[in-house]
Amino acid sequence: MIPIGAVRHSLRMSLRESLRATMEMALPTACGGCGSPGLTWCGSCRDETVHVAYPGGSRQVRPTPCPAGCPPTWAATSYDGVARAALVAFKDGDRRDLRTVLAPMLSGAMVAALVLDPRLAAALSLGSGPVAVVPVPSSPSAVRRRGDAPLELLTRAAAGQCARSGAELTISPALRLRRRVADQAGLNHRRRAANLEQAMQVRPRWQARVQGATCLLVDDVMTTGATLAEAARALRAGGAVHVAAATVAATQRRGIPAGSPQGSGDLLPDLSGGG
Ligand SMILES: [Zn+2]
Repeated sequence: MIPIGAVRHSLRMSLRESLRATMEMALPTACGGCGSPGLTWCGSCRDETVHVAYPGGSRQVRPTPCPAGCPPTWAATSYDGVARAALVAFKDGDRRDLRTVLAPMLSGAMVAALVLDPRLAAALSLGSGPVAVVPVPSSPSAVRRRGDAPLELLTRAAAGQCARSGAELTISPALRLRRRVADQAGLNHRRRAANLEQAMQVRPRWQARVQGATCLLVDDVMTTGATLAEAARALRAGGAVHVAAATVAATQRRGIPAGSPQGSGDLLPDLSGGG
């Protein structure tokens, strides 16, 4: 029998989702980057998006210091300016319509990982089963507060765009948090790692799918790498044979311009709410 609490929760979720969709259609839209009235994403924010994106497309990023077990990770853009505004509004500002802006960025990073990570590329070219695309799990309290799991929504939209390139992918929300964790914002890199140590596990009903799987982890922002390292550890503990990752954005060490060769992937230790 399905517990009545779960039914109420799912009714509340679908009600919120339809209310949100109705509001998206009914309200005059403001740009998710600068707030100017009119379009979801205005022309000048579109230009600015190109400016903050890494020149030449998504690139491999690496936090400094790099936590043990952090998977090889590709990102589309530095976590700055309009890219940051769009991610914050998408996740916490009820602007799920911005997935149309963010999904192409995330799919760019995912395709880069699928092509440039040798073991993901081999899994796809040998046809040895689909790559499991695993969104980093949200905490139950974040899902209650937001009414949905925006990262999963974004992952599905981005994977749909990757699939057009012929990659065989399965969306696999296989991870969950197994204990309460503090908000990562405001913690330094050591505390972030301690906060997340052994915090994730493979959901029991996904165990068979993760065993032996090649996985592409997905998150919105890479900051210290602590979240991706813990998610990758949990997938490996669940039997995954290889884990790489893709994120929309990566934080950049202050003073090093986005895209400068020596600056690529040098990450701020403790500024954003990402991880
Ligand atoms: Zn704008």
